[in-house]
Amino acid sequence: MKKKDIILIISIIIIAIISYFLFTLGKNEKGSQVIITVDGTVIEKFNLYEDREYTIKNGDHYNILTIKDGYADIIEADCPDKHCVNQKKINKMGEKIICLPNKTIIEIIGADESNIDSIAN
Ligand SMILES: [Zn+2]
Repeated sequence: MKKKDIILIISIIIIAIISYFLFTLGKNEKGSQVIITVDGTVIEKFNLYEDREYTIKNGDHYNILTIKDGYADIIEADCPDKHCVNQKKINKMGEKIICLPNKTIIEIIGADESNIDSIAN
């Protein structure tokens, strides 16, 4: 093999490894915070690693969120379809539990996303 070919092969391998890591980080990184959006407004932000139970209220409706062992989950709700309750618990950045009837969104975000307040406004 020529020296040029070896350099080309090494470059391709390096690019492949870098894109693999970028993809993995973007898709599978564990989040660190849970944000709760009701009717388009961020109402609460919790640490994903502090266990708690929280009742999200939207008028007469509610969803009960639990944060446990680094996962967020909806365990109870008064919506008719119960999609949010049946959805599996989430812990990765960008994952969401959405309750359409109650206009409630639970989303996992990373620690360095400090632009939450601007979304709320
Ligand atoms: Zn629901």
